[in-house]
Amino acid sequence: MAYDSENIFAKILRGEIPCDKVFEDDHALAFRDINPQTPTHILVIPKGAYVSSDDFTANASEAELAGFLRAVGHVAREAGLAAPGYRMLANHGADAHQEVPHFHVHIFGGQNLGRMIKPVDK
Ligand code: 5GP
Repeated sequence: MAYDSENIFAKILRGEIPCDKVFEDDHALAFRDINPQTPTHILVIPKGAYVSSDDFTANASEAELAGFLRAVGHVAREAGLAAPGYRMLANHGADAHQEVPHFHVHIFGGQNLGRMIKPVDK
């Protein structure tokens, strides 16, 4: 899948639409999800044009990979979630219902998050 430079997170990266920014460095931008699912719900995105976790993990440089993961940890720590705990999650593709085609990690926290995934009835 080719990267769509008109996706909403690309527009946020270019400053064309606003976001509630919590962190930015050379490799990553973090901002609050517009429709939070938990008391703290932050999205962390790489600055590079990567469609998904599949694209990012296959094609990003070592510096981008390391810088991005460091940023995720930093953002969670700064949000006060290291002690109580948090969940980080990335949706890739149709089965995971990825909505925005720019790689992003969700950080969920601020409440007991329960078990990881509820099995779907077959
Ligand atoms: P996905 O399903 O792709 O993993 O998650 C996309 C997330 O982006 C959703 O949680 C959605 O609420 C969030 N989102 C979509 N559009 C915007 C936006 O314009 N601004 C912000 N801050 N979050 C957005």
